[in-house]
Amino acid sequence: MARTDLDALTLNALTLEQRASLLSGRDFWTTKALEEAGIPSITLCDGPHGVRREAGGSDHLGLNESIPATCFPPAVAVGSSWDPEVAARIGAAVGREGRALGVAVVLGPGVNIKRSPLCGRNFEYYSEDPLLSGVLAAAHVNALQAEGPGASVKHFAANNQETERMRVSADVDERTLREIYFPAFERVVTQARPATVMCSYNRVNGVHASQNRWLLTDVLRREWGFTGVVVSDWGAVQDRVAALAAGLDLEMPGTGGASDRRIVDAVRAGELDEAVVNASVRRVVALTRRHGGVSGAFDADAHHALARELAAECAVLLKNENGTLPLSAEARIAVIGEFAAKPRFQGGGSSHINATRVDAALDAIRAHAPDVAYAQGFTLDGSGDARELREAAAETAASADVAIVFAGLGEREESEGFDRETIDLPAVQVELIRAVAAAARRTVIVLSNGGVVSLEGWHDDVDAVLEGWLLGQAGGSAVADLLFGVVNPSGHLAESIPMRLQDTPSYLNFPGEAGHVRYGEGVMVGYRYYETVELPVRYPFGHGLSYTTFATDGLTVTRTGDDRATVTVRVTNTGDRAGKHVVQVYVSTTAGPVRRPARELRAFTKVSLAPGESRLVTLHLDRRAFAYYDVRLGRWVVAPGDYTIQIGENASSVVAETTISLGGDTVVPVVSLDSTLGEWLSHPLAGPALLRVLTGGKSARPEEDDENGLRMASSMPMGRFLSFAGIDIPHATLRELVALGGSDGPAA
Ligand code: BGC
Repeated sequence: MARTDLDALTLNALTLEQRASLLSGRDFWTTKALEEAGIPSITLCDGPHGVRREAGGSDHLGLNESIPATCFPPAVAVGSSWDPEVAARIGAAVGREGRALGVAVVLGPGVNIKRSPLCGRNFEYYSEDPLLSGVLAAAHVNALQAEGPGASVKHFAANNQETERMRVSADVDERTLREIYFPAFERVVTQARPATVMCSYNRVNGVHASQNRWLLTDVLRREWGFTGVVVSDWGAVQDRVAALAAGLDLEMPGTGGASDRRIVDAVRAGELDEAVVNASVRRVVALTRRHGGVSGAFDADAHHALARELAAECAVLLKNENGTLPLSAEARIAVIGEFAAKPRFQGGGSSHINATRVDAALDAIRAHAPDVAYAQGFTLDGSGDARELREAAAETAASADVAIVFAGLGEREESEGFDRETIDLPAVQVELIRAVAAAARRTVIVLSNGGVVSLEGWHDDVDAVLEGWLLGQAGGSAVADLLFGVVNPSGHLAESIPMRLQDTPSYLNFPGEAGHVRYGEGVMVGYRYYETVELPVRYPFGHGLSYTTFATDGLTVTRTGDDRATVTVRVTNTGDRAGKHVVQVYVSTTAGPVRRPARELRAFTKVSLAPGESRLVTLHLDRRAFAYYDVRLGRWVVAPGDYTIQIGENASSVVAETTISLGGDTVVPVVSLDSTLGEWLSHPLAGPALLRVLTGGKSARPEEDDENGLRMASSMPMGRFLSFAGIDIPHATLRELVALGGSDGPAA
């Protein structure tokens, strides 16, 4: 049996210098070995949707060639699959490739929430919704780690932009962190036990994530029970000693021994407890022993086929009028746009894969249909005469039955490292789409983009839109499979497509200023905001069409306790093709003392149905589905009250709903002299007692005449109300009242 723990004997035999040396990298991608103690060096490599193992030397910007590996659909696509099975199959395949390439820890997945569509790294993240992100990421990590390598869920936390990413302070209130930005991490940590968690570059409420004790120790380890290694994002450590004390075990990349010396000096100077060093050393050694093995090979052809199959589960059919799709193989087809020949299938930066091969949609479409013409339409590098290219494309479109325009964003428009400033498609492409739509009998748009693009200015001119996101190396074939109906589209949006950038909830607070970005929209992120303020979007979160149709009926919700329920619903494939349907369960409530979003996704599942087939689907809603995070109590609370369980076709269209009443949690409030008069009066024990004192023992309920006065004063803290109103309550009585309210004092 492999030893996973560093026994006390071995630990004591190591000098402080040797122990400190284990806490930072040897170079860019590997840790240091201590052969005399049997501790191997291990390799950590990107990334989330494929392995980027650099062939020679190290170069963080991805300029060095890496060893060929399969580029699976990035998280932006997996998010749209709404299918943990898709995430798991990618995780397992990445795990197999990691193992074959000698990688102990694969750096992914990224579970940061898409706060703004402008974030340059949104292609690496799943969704604007924490439940969807967390479920998919947990499936990925479980499957990846079952193959041997460890995962690194990243970037913890509140890393939702690239602008100033190494310095900016994400200023986020705690309820918002707990309800929106933490749950995906929490789910992965508690349900998939990742080998490592990677801290983010940014500061969180002023403190660098890399040295944020509350984040790395109090929340991550104490509350969520994380026992693995906290690794720095590459170069995220500001102060090595503070970072170690806060809970950051492994600094990557190495600093040539400089930070190891700082650790040793701090221990010798009595500034850092040696026990902290030892605890991190144990965790790092356990990591090298659990995930160090290298073995196997991977089947590149099989993984390419898998990448194709899974990519087809991810694309979202946004619009399909006049039965335009699926295409008939007999149709005369015009394929337009350089992306058809030179696919954009992955994002730029640390996750960039040297793909084993790449399928172009143009070739794949030609494999399905004999009569296919191609026009370039525009150039990705801006060369050539845009007008000539456009006119030639319109001519090609006019002589076909259907024109398919491949539009999207190039790597110049979006990447890790910077944020976008617009969500518009490049103007040259918008003009092309309009010209083609005017000339063609039918127009289909296929989009390739990592971050949301606006569909305004051309959406109404075209018949069908397939949002392909970035689909990985086999995306071209997958798109052809969907266009010809070999596969029935089943993707659904994991993020809202707004009408205008100005409508997005973070618009006024992105990307911040003077070193701070204020998360002023709080929990109202994505559809939570649009649905709450009733702002129309072009396509809501959860939207996605199919070539078949589905019906939902028979919703029953059964309370299974004061804070949980079971939802059962029947779904039927009412069309004539097999297809997959996503059951989306939202909870809507106004219960509790905090502003709740209009509705929140609380459960989902994807079901595959043959034509005419019906299935009863049962989903469980646990207490978190109803809870809000109470910052005063420092815990999750289910407020007593009514909760409407809604089955949504998407986040803005509810097809069935039922309201249940939950007993919720009994929270006895605590009042002190700082509590308002209103809080005192609503306290079950202290309220009536106070009234008796105020009315000279006459009443425990306010007289009608007094009611207005009390209402006016209700937001005054008690202490101030008493002195303001000149009410002199004897000290002993005040002590009794405060004791009834559950707190101490006042001091004698
Ligand atoms: C990125 C991480 C990545 C690391 C190693 C950083 O710049 O933020 O996501 O894993 O580099 O390449």
